Amino acid sequence: MTELLPNYAAGRWQTGHGTGAVLKDPVLGQDLVRVDSTGLDVPEAFRFAREQGGAALRALTYRERAGLLSGVVKVLQAHRDSYYEIATANSGTVKNDSAVDIDGGIFTLGQYAKWGDALGDVRALRDGDAARLGKEPVFLSQHLQVPTHGVALFINAFNFPGWGLWEKAAPALLSGVPVIVKPATSTAWLTQRMVRDVVEAGVLPAGALSVIAGSSAGLMDQLGPFDVVSFTGSADTAGIIRAHAAVAQRSARANIEADSLNSALLLPDAAPGSDAFNLLVREVVREMTVKSGQKCTAIRRILVPQDVYGAAAEAIGAKLAGVTVGNPRNDGVRMGSLVSTAQLHAVREGLAQLSAHVDILHDGRQVPLVDADPAVAACIGPVLLGARDADAASVVHDVEVFGPVATLVPYRDMGHALALAQRGQGSLVTSLYGADEAALGHAAVHLAASHGRVHVVTPDVAQAHTGHGNVMPMSLHGGPGRAGGGAELGGLRALDFYHQRSAVQASPGVLAALGL
Ligand code: NAP
Repeated sequence: MTELLPNYAAGRWQTGHGTGAVLKDPVLGQDLVRVDSTGLDVPEAFRFAREQGGAALRALTYRERAGLLSGVVKVLQAHRDSYYEIATANSGTVKNDSAVDIDGGIFTLGQYAKWGDALGDVRALRDGDAARLGKEPVFLSQHLQVPTHGVALFINAFNFPGWGLWEKAAPALLSGVPVIVKPATSTAWLTQRMVRDVVEAGVLPAGALSVIAGSSAGLMDQLGPFDVVSFTGSADTAGIIRAHAAVAQRSARANIEADSLNSALLLPDAAPGSDAFNLLVREVVREMTVKSGQKCTAIRRILVPQDVYGAAAEAIGAKLAGVTVGNPRNDGVRMGSLVSTAQLHAVREGLAQLSAHVDILHDGRQVPLVDADPAVAACIGPVLLGARDADAASVVHDVEVFGPVATLVPYRDMGHALALAQRGQGSLVTSLYGADEAALGHAAVHLAASHGRVHVVTPDVAQAHTGHGNVMPMSLHGGPGRAGGGAELGGLRALDFYHQRSAVQASPGVLAALGL
């Protein structure tokens, strides 16, 4: 039997009493480790985090907690190599793709450490200036933000076991709120190992960080009115979280990051062969292949002027033809596997759903795998689809295939293009490609209403832009509607979720004594 990974709850390592779920190598098919949370005293875990972890964190100032984040960064950097090994084994990712998860998480923590340090040695935050409540400035209203006296429960998705923990934990811990993370089972190993290293290094107060790997059963039941839950995953599970009594009745705050039909839009001025056209092609290929397309922000729909459709299909297809797929341990491989055979089946099912409504413009499924057994490995080559009738092919705007799959969609004019982008019903990100600044600016404002982020690529930022799918801690991550309605990151805006806003109405003397 493989090793059973312990959970860290209530300040101690605890192994589940069941046999557990087996985590596998998606390329070689071997068993790796097991996770299980059967028999854990879940109420005790939440009580301990809330009472011990919360109190210890809130006793510190923002600057001191920023110092804790810097301590976590050092620990993770010291163990970086082992995280890469786990990612290769459990997520089937090539080095560059593992970096997005591992170094992306460390980078995000480092940013919050820097921003937190600048907040200084205070224990609450001033929110705007005091407003007078009457004619004379003798009785004022000062809004402030104080850390919530609860626990932050993270229920995370399988595709980012590293970054997914730290992009949430950085603002939570900086806010003074203890964290309990429940990673997705299939890739829980990396999350568990990172927590293990941080706990063993003793850089955080007891109760500040816990990990429960295995079933989610009973976790939501523990949430009370001052707790928060941050969920990343499918729209179906999101519905369960929203309807749970903790959220629906006890008003525990919920942040939901769900699936998203993100788009890339080539503006009418970008003819084939132009810089903007080439930038779109490069970005689409990158987005389809990084982490085998298993990124919530990946481009799923490529909107191009109808007279450019053929040229775009050809250019994207030609680049995809050069993508080698297979065992991430082989240096010649550019794209590794999906995280599991279950995901491979899900991608195949998604492709079958789309196939009745689209043409296949490039089919990487026919290309032999490098160093991997197609009967075992959860590998699939990139597939570019094309929907000649953009309006009729509803399924293209509705079904997210969570793999290296995207659909080329022709549009008639800019009004049609904007309407098609919005058929995603609310997305995490759209990217625009062109050189006409006025047209790009107009489109950006228009699409901002239905997108959490609008990434505009002009030829002058060819080298500087950070990538359509890259989630930078400085910018908002989260989108309205179908994307879940969540809001993460965006610099210090992320702290809002972990704070309670309150208006203190008092005399100037009392307000001066708030210690802000
Ligand atoms: P999922 O099945 O919804 O799982 C997500 C998490 O929820 C896992 O930790 C899972 O645990 C847990 N879970 C499952 N059932 C639950 C329940 N009844 N109560 C509480 N927790 C429960 O999602 P997935 O299919 O693994 O993830 C892929 C999806 O995530 C994609 O659609 C993708 O678009 C989305 N995603 C979104 C973002 C974003 O930031 N917007 C980022 C990444 C992924 P187990 O693993 O133990 O089942």
